[in-house]
Amino acid sequence: MAWPQTLIDACYFIAALLFILGLKRMSSPRTARGGIVWAGFGMLLAVVATLLLPDMQNRGLIIAAVLVGVAAAWWSGRRVAMTAMPQMVALYNGMGGGAAAAIGASELVSHARDLVAGAPAPNTFPLMPESWSQLHGAAAVAPLSPVALALGVLGALIGSVSFSGSLIAFAKLQGWLDRRFVFPGQQVVNLLVLAAALLMGVALGSGHITIALVCAFFVLALLFGLLMTLPIGGADMPVVISLYNAFTGLAVAFEGFVLQNEAMIIAGMVVGAAGTLLTQLMAKAMNRSIGNVLFGNFGAAAGGAAQAISGSQKPIEAADAAVMMAYAERVVIVPGYGMAVAQAQHKVWEFAQVLIARGVKVKFAIHPVAGRMPGHMNVLLAEAGVPYDLIVDMEDINPEFPVTDVALVIGANDVVNPVAKTDPSSPIYGMPILDVADAKQVIVVKRGKGTGFAGIENALFYADNARMLYGDGQAAAGQLVAELKTLDG
Ligand code: NDP
Repeated sequence: MAWPQTLIDACYFIAALLFILGLKRMSSPRTARGGIVWAGFGMLLAVVATLLLPDMQNRGLIIAAVLVGVAAAWWSGRRVAMTAMPQMVALYNGMGGGAAAAIGASELVSHARDLVAGAPAPNTFPLMPESWSQLHGAAAVAPLSPVALALGVLGALIGSVSFSGSLIAFAKLQGWLDRRFVFPGQQVVNLLVLAAALLMGVALGSGHITIALVCAFFVLALLFGLLMTLPIGGADMPVVISLYNAFTGLAVAFEGFVLQNEAMIIAGMVVGAAGTLLTQLMAKAMNRSIGNVLFGNFGAAAGGAAQAISGSQKPIEAADAAVMMAYAERVVIVPGYGMAVAQAQHKVWEFAQVLIARGVKVKFAIHPVAGRMPGHMNVLLAEAGVPYDLIVDMEDINPEFPVTDVALVIGANDVVNPVAKTDPSSPIYGMPILDVADAKQVIVVKRGKGTGFAGIENALFYADNARMLYGDGQAAAGQLVAELKTLDG
């Protein structure tokens, strides 16, 4: 059964609206859940409309592939731990880039075959309609226009880079690969590989299409994604993942142009634009330029010796920490990756509620790259039921630390490390931080003397006004609740 083209176009239009409105709703934690559902319905509509295109071939195969994909995503989505979400995003994003590259590959291979056969043959891409001209009733099938060919090649290049780069990002975050892989002259090698891939792309784009050239082009493009990502490590990984997200969007939009599929073009542009904005915001949050992220080899051995940190870490018992906060006027809770590991968000919120009931003014401070993915802390706090008006962004909370009686840091490390401001030799130098050290008293909950993601010492933990409450985040928050309740009782 096939639908008329106008109905399909209408479905694509509605799907595009749902993508855009869904994305808009994702901009606030209040509406984000609904936004995901809206965008999901948009995607469902686009897929169904595509299946009902006239001349669509291999519907059975497509439906089987969709079912396998849905089952894998459902299973992995339900199983994945919150702490492993960044790798999952990297993996899914890589799949999108790979799919766009596969469309480009299929188009190029079929055109290479046509050229060998001596005449432009019908578009042999098996999963899509024969061609735009066939759809619109033209008798003969035109080969790709020069613009479509160029965009197809560009999409294939970007999609391949995003695919292999995202897989490396996944492997690094999953702990399967050493965090950094550097060798002398690496950037020159990378540039040469990129230049060779671009040259081949230009040859393909100008119509010199052979199977050998297509294969060499894809090998080089995939290699470039791999080489580009291997040396990147440390705190730059979130920026890289969101950059690849933007790449995938662009690649999908370009391939959508080749296939004349409006839903793909719009969805790709929306993802590309959102990914670009997120990349810029993330880079700004870490005080890095995109070029510096990609080519600066951030996180490698810093230029000079790290400044020595004087003082010692001073432990505190849960009972004393609870008393300090119970009699404080203002408490700011700063969650980080360790809260996610400990799944302590519910206990932390319970603790905050007891404080609020005692009349303490409690706020939660969020650093944009706290945790292991953008919005990680917002998601956890929302899951625990923390009201949005208690959650404050870095730039708004920083001026409040000097008037804060107690800052409770729970599982955060890099994002509260003052060396980012004071030690030019530190790999996180220049990254904006939460100015927790400015609070009158600081209590830090962590298990021991472990470092954070950047693998460096934290001067905050040695500060005169800081006390360490050692223990697992959830257990420590539970102790604090129990101690507060004994005060009340
Ligand atoms: P960090 O990774 O810097 O520090 C986490 C701290 O939590 C550690 O010092 C660890 O110390 C402690 N911890 C671990 N497990 C527990 C537990 N069960 N209970 C209590 N504490 C625990 O976290 P931040 O959130 O401060 O910083 C995030 C870092 O990750 C930044 O460098 C950022 O650039 C990077 N990053 C961010 C991404 C994002 O998009 N948000 C993505 C990828 C990287 P101990 O072992 O002693 O307990």
